[in-house]
Amino acid sequence: MSTYAPHDVVFTRGEGSWLFDADGKQYLDGLTGLAVCGLGHAHPAVTQAIQSQAGKLLHCSNHFRIAHQEALADKLCAVSGMESAFFCNSGAEANEAAIKLARLYGHRHKNIDKPSIIVMEGAFHGRTMATLSATGNRKIQAGFEPLVAGFVRAPFNNLDAIRTIGRNNNSVVAILLEPVQGEGGICVPDQGYLRDLKAICEQHDWLLMLDEVQSGNGRTGQYFAYQHEGIVPDVVSTAKGLGNGVPIGACLAQGVAAEVLTVGSHGTTFGGNPLSAATGLAVISSIEQEGLCARAAALSERIQSNLASLVNDGLITELRAKGLMIGLDLGKPCAELVAHGLQNGIVINVTAGSILRMLPPLNMSDAEADQLVDQVCTLITQFHSKQP
Ligand SMILES: *Cc1c(COP(=O)(O)O)cnc(C)c1O
Repeated sequence: MSTYAPHDVVFTRGEGSWLFDADGKQYLDGLTGLAVCGLGHAHPAVTQAIQSQAGKLLHCSNHFRIAHQEALADKLCAVSGMESAFFCNSGAEANEAAIKLARLYGHRHKNIDKPSIIVMEGAFHGRTMATLSATGNRKIQAGFEPLVAGFVRAPFNNLDAIRTIGRNNNSVVAILLEPVQGEGGICVPDQGYLRDLKAICEQHDWLLMLDEVQSGNGRTGQYFAYQHEGIVPDVVSTAKGLGNGVPIGACLAQGVAAEVLTVGSHGTTFGGNPLSAATGLAVISSIEQEGLCARAAALSERIQSNLASLVNDGLITELRAKGLMIGLDLGKPCAELVAHGLQNGIVINVTAGSILRMLPPLNMSDAEADQLVDQVCTLITQFHSKQP
């Protein structure tokens, strides 16, 4: 079905921060398949884990214990401060699990008939019916009405709006948000925002549910973005970077939230099967062994300081970044930059119309990061010189 309008390039191979097409042309990957291949392409430990597991057991169903899944749950809980995990295959499914968890929590713990969840303007949570209803983008919802009920919309990075909802709406059971909005244009909230949201949630017995599908797995310079604020949410969803390209998602929870989903209340055929769980384990181990959270933070500093001249020269109106989630606001629609980038041998993305987005590998070299920035600067300079 024509759900995509792909660029006319076929990548046949990847190695570290580089992609190669059928003609052997090479591209510096500043996107990693949308924050998926955080360890770069063909990472040896990940390749080894996949190859080895593929020769042993791919799948057996969650009707049986899966040792790799149990180990991955332990590992994820250890790095996140969470206590239980549900595995699925994508970000949308991880958020679906969180939404179901919140509703069940509302019914069972708060005795609320029609529980609702606060969600944000500009949010992106996925394309299933519930997650697109939670998404704050009319374009993604248009034509799919009736939307799933039970979401209350609030402006992002605005605590007063949340307090007002708290005073006026007693059906709320949870807040679901991205700690850094990705598709919405790399929107980084004020420091302290998550901490204050956590306090408001505690006051009302709401669950704080963070969608770390894009921001998780080391991308922002901590394993999860909320760790920059020293808080522990009730629920965390993650996916993209967890499998480095093998589909896997997880919904993690702690405290009361950890016990809400019980036998028979949720499930999936593929989620957390031996292949994806073994891969996830190799990914987390590599992130830890190679110190990639700190590496992402250092690379971010380097890239941001190299981009500073663009801000000074007025070529971008704003530089937004949290670790290696980097957005350059060009101030006007700039979708054509993606094709120009491909011609010049770099892979980047444009989101929210006017934001050039980079989501590069966490383990790229300094030289590769410098080259990426150089080429992005060239692209942007050319873009502005061609504008009327
Ligand atoms: C990509 C993304 C999703 C959806 O993940 P899929 O794997 O495409 O279903 C959800 N939330 C956020 C924040 C994302 O970036």
